[in-house]
Amino acid sequence: MTIKRIDHVAVVVENLAAALSVYRDALGLVVSKQETMPEQDVKMAFLPSGDSEIELLEPIHPDSGIGRYLARRGEGLHHICLEVDDLQATLAELKARGTQLIDETPRRGAYGQVAFIHPKGAHGVLIELLQRD
Ligand code: ZN
Repeated sequence: MTIKRIDHVAVVVENLAAALSVYRDALGLVVSKQETMPEQDVKMAFLPSGDSEIELLEPIHPDSGIGRYLARRGEGLHHICLEVDDLQATLAELKARGTQLIDETPRRGAYGQVAFIHPKGAHGVLIELLQRD
């Protein structure tokens, strides 16, 4: 298994417009895409930076997973996404090392196959693993 790069860093925010005034307007990052994904219960903005991007996530409903996360922990880092070359092999290797996984098998994400490592297995950080299509 090989970790290729940090694909994106996701930040959960109360209000996307307010967050864009910092990440886009003050920091000068450019929004490449902005969309509402009702099936994931988020409004999202994507701001590329070099070979990675920052994703801003605003929950639509307070009772969704990400809505509850925001209520419990407040705004801030939600997850880091690492791009891998072979997600199946990565999961098998992590499992063999005893890493606490949320997904033991890949599931479908927006850009390819994804799986999450539990924050308890990664010193408090939710890690998304992505194998792009
Ligand atoms: Zn992500």
